[in-house]
Amino acid sequence: MGESNHIEVWKRCLQIIRNNVPEAVYQKWFEPVKPISLKDQLLTIEVPSDAHMRRLEEMPLIDILAKTLKRVIGNDVNLLYNIRFPKTIVNYPHQNAQVASNRPIPFPINEKENINPFVIPGIQKLTIEPNLNPKYSFENFIEGVCNRLARSAGEQVAQSPGNNPFNPLFIHGGSGLGKTHLSQAIGLRVKELHPEKIVLYVSAHTFKTQFQDAALGNKIPDFTHFYEQIDVLIIDDVQQFNSPGTQNVFFHLFNYLQQTGRQIILTSDVAPANIQGMENRLVQRFRWGLSAELLPPNYETRVKILKAKSANEGISLSDDVVDYLATKITGSVRELEGTILTLLAHSTLNREDITLELAKKVTKQIVNVDSSELSLEKIRSVVCDYFKITPELIVSKTRKREIVQARQITMYLVRNLTKASLASIGSQMGGKDHATVLHACSTVSDLIDTDKTIRRYVSDLEHQLRPGK
Ligand code: ADP
Ligand code: MG
Repeated sequence: MGESNHIEVWKRCLQIIRNNVPEAVYQKWFEPVKPISLKDQLLTIEVPSDAHMRRLEEMPLIDILAKTLKRVIGNDVNLLYNIRFPKTIVNYPHQNAQVASNRPIPFPINEKENINPFVIPGIQKLTIEPNLNPKYSFENFIEGVCNRLARSAGEQVAQSPGNNPFNPLFIHGGSGLGKTHLSQAIGLRVKELHPEKIVLYVSAHTFKTQFQDAALGNKIPDFTHFYEQIDVLIIDDVQQFNSPGTQNVFFHLFNYLQQTGRQIILTSDVAPANIQGMENRLVQRFRWGLSAELLPPNYETRVKILKAKSANEGISLSDDVVDYLATKITGSVRELEGTILTLLAHSTLNREDITLELAKKVTKQIVNVDSSELSLEKIRSVVCDYFKITPELIVSKTRKREIVQARQITMYLVRNLTKASLASIGSQMGGKDHATVLHACSTVSDLIDTDKTIRRYVSDLEHQLRPGK
């Protein structure tokens, strides 16, 4: 990059930032910044005060700023603040700085508590809505070899939360195999056995959004205070913790809860070590307890599930229908449920009996639509269709921007939606190595955070690939 284009470059950064933070935040913290120079990926900016600089260096602003600079200027970007005097250099990605891991880290507690938006005002004793759905009980969770370990660990955890070898309990497995159900079952059982315990189920996505909102509104003490009260914290789909700020706050919360004897239950669609973009110190923490995998149900379990679910819906299925469905629908419990519901709809709307014929018809729809395992080929062809490019082009060596982008998005989707290894993705995407694939995945996930257009592409594509989600 030349020396004179700092104004242009900063303008581009501002556009991106403006798309990603509330307007008031943009005006207050980013608009007053003046670009001074850009030389060899060193951008110098002028900020009005030391306090201003420190605010920019906090989450989540720093996250957005760093990602934007990396994207516009390059991965080795450095930032120099001019605050009239003195000067400070910041190297990215410094926000990943390690915290000494051998020592307890006190979770920041702010005594000067103001209004906690999470607590119902006027009630002395803390009440927190646990977000549990009564239908996701252990009673409704059918046992099979595919889930025996996870289920029995879950039952033990519910017996004596915080005081068992499984802390954290880490439940992982593919989509639709019962992670949400089982983690909620634990929460419900705790509520039954230990009504005084404060239980909270939260999706990783919600946790992340709450944290980011809290950071923007200067409410981090409220946020942390709220989470420090929880006795049994269930966080669903932690593979979505992909931003350094969220990981950082979660790391401290995790340590705090552990040290104070609370129970943590986590779910993820992959095993701890395979979570993409997860900081190592967190992966290490996840390994402290037990990680239990939910597997796809085998034939016997599928039969049990079909019988139980149909009885629940008040329909009766003949043995040959059950056998047919259990043979054909092998992907996930969610698909088995979907089939029952479709059969139910047919039989009530059209007053049809549930015959083997009807079962075959319905199964065909279900298996064709979304239960067929997504393959790299399928994803690649959907991406090609979407961007109107040919499959030859996407695996070619061309560096044309649109093609590179489509290629990277393909790799990202394959990585997230299939079990393909990095090496096999690379080789099927035009002879790339695993590092290239990893790089593509992290580029796309950064872009999803900073670029509305890419975010839309990826969500459109995900929607096309998995219409049920
Ligand atoms: P995941 O969170 O792993 O994607 P869910 O927990 O949402 O999967 O499960 C999908 C559906 O399948 C839910 O309606 C759930 O109740 C049902 N389900 C999953 N496993 C079982 C099981 N072992 N017994 C009964 N229902 C199950
Ligand atoms: Mg789930």
